[in-house]
Amino acid sequence: MNTLGLIDIGANLTHPQLHNQLDKVVENMKIKNIKKAIITSSNLEDTKVALDIIKIYPKIFYTTVGFHPHNAKDFTHENIDEIIKYSENKKVLAIGECGLDYYREYSKKNDQLFCFEEQLKIAKNTNSPIFLHERNAHDDFVMMLKKYILEIEKVVIHCFTGTKKELDIYLDMGCYIGITGWISDLNRGKHLHDLIKYIPEDKLMIETDAPYLTPKNIPFKNTGVNEPSYLNYVAQSIAECLNKDISYVEKITVSNTKRFFSI
Ligand SMILES: [Zn+2]
Repeated sequence: MNTLGLIDIGANLTHPQLHNQLDKVVENMKIKNIKKAIITSSNLEDTKVALDIIKIYPKIFYTTVGFHPHNAKDFTHENIDEIIKYSENKKVLAIGECGLDYYREYSKKNDQLFCFEEQLKIAKNTNSPIFLHERNAHDDFVMMLKKYILEIEKVVIHCFTGTKKELDIYLDMGCYIGITGWISDLNRGKHLHDLIKYIPEDKLMIETDAPYLTPKNIPFKNTGVNEPSYLNYVAQSIAECLNKDISYVEKITVSNTKRFFSI
């Protein structure tokens, strides 16, 4: 078992499946020695709820502020100032999650591109780290990111599930890479078993993306609702792919996370 205590860089704790049982979620984190988690915000309401959660557990949680591409249709000019205001809160560690998602396309491409670009500008202007989501939109995503990458110091591609070529492009731009339980899925995530070796040890971070993406290597029967306490199984899967000990994964990811988010 880990000793230092892992940090989950992405958990959707404002999701009702987790929000309704926060005490249990926190208790399980303590049992599994998951030290901290960053609550992912997908819109401003999430950030508000996350900050209420943080008031109850100030030592464990942080959050982000931004609009997920699914919510780009709701994004307006007024939201820009609101995001900037929230970003000044010391518990708000990054802009995001934001980016492009053409897989489900819940918002029109043009709305997504506008919303993504405005958040890149906010990260640049506020000197904030940015937490990015990309699905089935790699070319447009890279085109947009390249316009700002030199002026944004810290960028993480959360829940990376792409190809070697895509990984190389992100690494060339200096991005950090977030890996979820996707890697433990032998159907969808098998390609990551090889790719993980190419992520430099100072660029890797880990996350659950709870309540989604429950790791497949959990050795006991579970409800299928993912939670931060399962982060150990993500770390274990990565350790096996790298042929290293879980304590190695813990050491590098915790160090990277603290540096990236300045915590
Ligand atoms: Zn995402």
